[in-house]
Amino acid sequence: MNLTGMMLIGGQGVAGRRDMIRALDPSTDQPLEPGYAGADREQVEQACALAWEAFDAYRETAPETRARLLETIADEMEALGDGLIERAMVETSLPRARLHGERGRTCGQLRLFARTLRAGEWLDARVDPAMPQRQPLPRADLRQRQVALGPVAVFGAGNFPLAFSVAGGDTASALTAGCPVVVKAHPAHPGVSELTGRVIRQAVADCGLPGGVFSLLITDGHALGRQLVEHPAIAAVAFTGSRRGGEALMRAAALRPRPIPVYAEMGSLNPVLALPHALAARAEAMAAAWVDALTLNAGQFCTCPSLLLAVEGEDLERFRRAAANAAAAKPADTMLTPAIHDAYQSALHRLRRTPGVAERAFGQAGGGPYAAQAALFEVDAAGFAARPELAEEIFGPCALTVACRDQDELLSIVAGLDGQLTATLQMDDADLPLARELLPLLEARAGRVLANGFPNWVETSPAMVHGGPFPASSDSRATSVGLAAMDRFLRPVCYQNLPAALLPPQVADDNPLRLWRRVDSAWSQS
Ligand code: NAP
Repeated sequence: MNLTGMMLIGGQGVAGRRDMIRALDPSTDQPLEPGYAGADREQVEQACALAWEAFDAYRETAPETRARLLETIADEMEALGDGLIERAMVETSLPRARLHGERGRTCGQLRLFARTLRAGEWLDARVDPAMPQRQPLPRADLRQRQVALGPVAVFGAGNFPLAFSVAGGDTASALTAGCPVVVKAHPAHPGVSELTGRVIRQAVADCGLPGGVFSLLITDGHALGRQLVEHPAIAAVAFTGSRRGGEALMRAAALRPRPIPVYAEMGSLNPVLALPHALAARAEAMAAAWVDALTLNAGQFCTCPSLLLAVEGEDLERFRRAAANAAAAKPADTMLTPAIHDAYQSALHRLRRTPGVAERAFGQAGGGPYAAQAALFEVDAAGFAARPELAEEIFGPCALTVACRDQDELLSIVAGLDGQLTATLQMDDADLPLARELLPLLEARAGRVLANGFPNWVETSPAMVHGGPFPASSDSRATSVGLAAMDRFLRPVCYQNLPAALLPPQVADDNPLRLWRRVDSAWSQS
């Protein structure tokens, strides 16, 4: 597939002016063509200025126009066929089937937002008619709708080159809300980013929208990422990646003269609680399924279930034996980048030297230069509670099982956990009383609570929540997947006593858009 080595600024292909960034095939350690000269400060400035210029026109486009934009992006991403998937395979070493699934999910998400735009409920329009006779004080005429926040800076994730990258959920939800987008591509997959970016640029042009609605910056190094966050035109930031990166952007945004929200999704341990009856009934099958989920794509999921909690005893030992056998049989799998591989190796080294932590199993060695072995470690609950570093995410196919003395200790370990993206109960009906005690603790700590199954797959459906209390994400009220993802880029405006001629159609008396609205607190389409 023809790649130009250029980024995209306001509808134009532009060559960068800084050092060359070259993707690497992590399975062979070979650099990939073409090189991408990185953006400089002036080019970041230009992309932000164009986004700002485009904002006023774009935010008030008809929902139908934005819906067509999203659908065109989805159609054209599919039309790229295997070329897109094959470039993603060499840049990330992720398998073909996974990338096909990821593209399906990306396009599904774009189309879900298009349907939402047409339905109009996202505007959450409200009309509270005036009550001039109300005693002791009359009520003014009050109307509310949601408006777009402003241009959004999106930091693409390294581990999802499609679904959390240039055309992923952050971009899709910002464009849906009426916000222009400036994407900072993840430097590990510039080729996939260029291909996807060109699709968006073309769709913007085909829909007759200003070029500044979308720019794609290809650059590495933290300074330009910070410049983007600090630029006065940028109204919000969406990020998926490391806790260190997310916190750095949160700090930069908070220190601006006009602070802005940063929606950072920073990963999680995704605890799995193997409850006693389920463990007794199916320890071996549960262990095999857990190791499959743990090692899927070298564990490089923010939803990788890397912490298992259970009450000690023979059933937990059966589980650990079966998990050790399953992990030992797993072939090593190539990681996304040399840096991620190095970070994984260092984390294993640290765990091996942590007092109270025992190695239980390692997967097969070998594979390419950046292949990761599966690894299982064990600790008791007191040891886990005493060492807060054991509750830090290790990005890769490594897990810790924690043995609790009894159910009370299990409850207290859960109560001590930080915020999580997900928490999973492995349970049978007989576990319901304990599950009922655990549920309030899990709700308070996780964005998504599952029963049985494993959390890796994040469905792009209206009810999904992909977020959670800090440090899983920077704002526990937000999700980066599912319909509510667009709420991050909207804000409410109230119109008080405006003359009818001045009211936006979403809150006008005759409801020309036939929206479902809350009129005097009751749902109405008239
Ligand atoms: P990352 O280091 O957080 O980088 C993600 C993006 O943020 C990159 O574009 C990076 O730019 C930028 N960035 C990072 N720190 C920054 C800072 N201080 N200032 C400005 N920009 C900054 O993530 P990664 O490269 O994908 O992987 C590194 C580690 O992140 C992994 O080992 C893993 O622990 C974690 N991770 C977590 C998730 C998750 O699901 N939450 C996903 C992927 C990775 P430059 O690289 O150009 O500087």
